[in-house]
Amino acid sequence: MPDVVRAQVLILGGGIAGLWVLARLVRRGVDALLVDTGPLGGGQTVGSQGIIHGGIKYALTGQASAASRAIAGMPERWRACLAGTGEVDLSRAVVLADRQHLWTTPGLLSRVAAAGASKVIRTPVEFVAPSDRPPAFTGAPRGVDVYSVGEPVVDARSIVAALAGAVGGRAGTIGAFELGAGGVLSSPGVRIEAGAIVLAAGAGNADLLGRVGAGDAVMTQLRPLHMVMARFPGRAGDERLRLFGHCLGPSSLPRLTVTTACDGADSVWYLGGSVAETGVERDGPAQIAAAREELRDCLPWLDLAGATFATCRWDRAEALAPGTRPGQRPDEPVVVRVDRGVPIVAAWPTKLALAPLTADRVIEQLERAGVVPGRPDGRAREAALPPARVSPHPWAAEGVRWS
Ligand SMILES: Cc1cc2nc3c(=O)[nH]c(=O)nc-3n(C[C@H](O)[C@H](O)[C@H](O)COP(=O)(O)OP(=O)(O)OC[C@H]3O[C@@H](n4cnc5c(N)ncnc54)[C@H](O)[C@@H]3O)c2cc1C
Repeated sequence: MPDVVRAQVLILGGGIAGLWVLARLVRRGVDALLVDTGPLGGGQTVGSQGIIHGGIKYALTGQASAASRAIAGMPERWRACLAGTGEVDLSRAVVLADRQHLWTTPGLLSRVAAAGASKVIRTPVEFVAPSDRPPAFTGAPRGVDVYSVGEPVVDARSIVAALAGAVGGRAGTIGAFELGAGGVLSSPGVRIEAGAIVLAAGAGNADLLGRVGAGDAVMTQLRPLHMVMARFPGRAGDERLRLFGHCLGPSSLPRLTVTTACDGADSVWYLGGSVAETGVERDGPAQIAAAREELRDCLPWLDLAGATFATCRWDRAEALAPGTRPGQRPDEPVVVRVDRGVPIVAAWPTKLALAPLTADRVIEQLERAGVVPGRPDGRAREAALPPARVSPHPWAAEGVRWS
């Protein structure tokens, strides 16, 4: 006989969206439970660069519209959570940088200034005088301008771990399962009966919607990225390598986005931006060569000798809001509700930064469906579900080949 577990809300998927919703529901006293078929954060979340965007990236593309308005308040909400005073407790998570930097190649000053002055940007964009620049910009030639933006950068893995820690034994691992009508999930050894279901499975949402007979509820898309990692042996803590931000090029998308982590004694750069978007057709060695070239062009003053490189591929899983063209990045989180015996709410945050807004919208839908705080019963759950582990950083994942 399988263990039978009852929950008011069952969340499928333990990335940023599912975990943030779970933490909010648990705080409100809703009897909620989350299951993931893989490690927590292993879809896109731990693979993200952890930039808590406040809109400057979209202002730079001239899209300072719905996208920037939706995202403008996010750094403030995240900062409260990181300080332990917000809607979820992220006080144990790691803030890698309090702000990020934009740096230009000559001729792009006016675009940054205009974007920074945009009324929908709440985080100030400040010109940084050469004497005040972070050590990574020491030696930058004349014509390179540096701006500071109040958008924090977090260690996404530590965010997942903090959220998982905050919800106790309510985030568990599950193997293959069937999702039946009326909110019943059955897998060998456990049967979960839920009053409402939240689908927060990223790329898995489309299949799950299909399984509950709602495959046509929303159009979904995957947008691939080919990220590059550069490892600097023995240089953990080297301030000249501590870099967070975007190098702006002639196109409206950042040419190169760099975030920095420490892995044991090493520093690791995680490289995204245009090079990751245009590199999806390249194989690993060609993508590394392209990234090396970008590094030489964007940061010619930095000594990168001794670095080894590797790449990793990701799919950004998004839903298309009405009016969005396929291939285009949606502006906001997409949250849809269908009723199949129980309310089923599917969510795509679009951005890590948009997790708080995503949770607002999911909870609003659950409340409209009559989900109100109930009585938790953690014991049965812990007995039934093995706890989910947190996915490793991309640069610490098994099978990464450095060259
Ligand atoms: C390389 C990269 C860099 C990024 N950088 C940034 C950034 O700097 N800032 C920013 O704001 N955003 C960034 N993003 C976007 C951001 O990472 C995503 O929008 C966000 O993490 C999506 O979270 P999610 O919870 O919807 O999905 P995911 O993180 O994909 O989580 C989905 C979870 O569902 C689980 N799952 C899948 N199928 C099932 C199933 N059938 N049943 C149960 N569980 C299932 C998976 O195992 C996974 O744990 C980046 C994305 C990528 C790929």
